[in-house]
Amino acid sequence: MSEPSADVYEQGRGMDAHNKVMRELRDEKGAKDYDPREPTRVWLDEDNTPDGVYNSLTIILNTGGCRWARAGGCTMCGYVAESVEGGSVAHEDLLAQIDECLAHERAEGDEQAGLIKIYTSGSFLDEREVPAETRRAIAETFADRERIVVESLPDFVDREKITDFTTVGLETDVAVGLETATDRVRHDCVNKYFDFEDFEAACAEARAADAGIKAYLLMKPPFLAESEAIADMQSSIRRCAAVDGCHTVSMNPTNVQRYTMVDQLHFRGGYRPPWLWSVAEVLESTADVDAIVVSDPVGHGSDRGAHNCGECDDRVQKAIKDFDLRQDPSVFSEVACECEATHEAVVERETAYNLPLAE
Ligand code: SF4
Ligand SMILES: [Zn+2]
Repeated sequence: MSEPSADVYEQGRGMDAHNKVMRELRDEKGAKDYDPREPTRVWLDEDNTPDGVYNSLTIILNTGGCRWARAGGCTMCGYVAESVEGGSVAHEDLLAQIDECLAHERAEGDEQAGLIKIYTSGSFLDEREVPAETRRAIAETFADRERIVVESLPDFVDREKITDFTTVGLETDVAVGLETATDRVRHDCVNKYFDFEDFEAACAEARAADAGIKAYLLMKPPFLAESEAIADMQSSIRRCAAVDGCHTVSMNPTNVQRYTMVDQLHFRGGYRPPWLWSVAEVLESTADVDAIVVSDPVGHGSDRGAHNCGECDDRVQKAIKDFDLRQDPSVFSEVACECEATHEAVVERETAYNLPLAE
């Protein structure tokens, strides 16, 4: 059995059995080193925020990969690949990545994006990934924009760190990969170690620095049936929206990534990504909450992404994207397909496991 290295602080967290399986799967993938001066990804997009829709520059900064993933990590996450030799990236190299992103923006965009979003596949606010000096330099670089979002696990959300952004005049949000408001589902199905109360504490810290929280939720982690996933997501959205400071919820349907536990289950017929009808149902039924709720199903319509029958996937995806920008649930009454009956039957009959075939 492979062990995480001694300095992996996450040891002892999460479920040992899940971590063991995930480490073995990630080992199969093998290590691949990346240039520390290149961002993992960068693209231009648009996003709905409490101040309206903005052009956004999304940056996936390469900070050495997720420590939690090296210990085993989340059952659906294949993001461990972005590692660099030595496991950490120096100040100058992180700033070189930011320069690359700005060059990309100049080359591709008509105007400067008002919103900057920085993800790291880890925690931007963890100073072992992004030192305080680098965080401050990045805040200065983007001081002429309107808003910024930085990704972090709740452990590292701290009012002093966030103040680096608010003092240069940026509306600031912290994106937290909460996945679900239900602790049991987060621990046992996702293998994430923190609790909902840690998320609430992170929201309070953000509020204290005059910042907000964007919660990322995972629709249909493994081991949940379609109906359980819908119910879990509906209650999670309501619980998140009720926390002071959490003004946006982004619901991500699980997609099947290589070298993950979800991939193993999927390969053996034990996992199907959620139906786009389920995503629509959740958005429609929670449209009354006091928060922006959005979803951007990755790989929609494919076997490995959220999908319906193949005929209606693009239309339903388009309705979801319309909902993201307008928050108007009537967009869903404009789409229909014969496969809704199949979806209804699935929701009624699918159970997660131990399905007895007779009394
Ligand atoms: S989902 Fe986030 S915390 Fe979990 S393994 Fe992936 S990068 Fe790490
Ligand atoms: Zn259909």
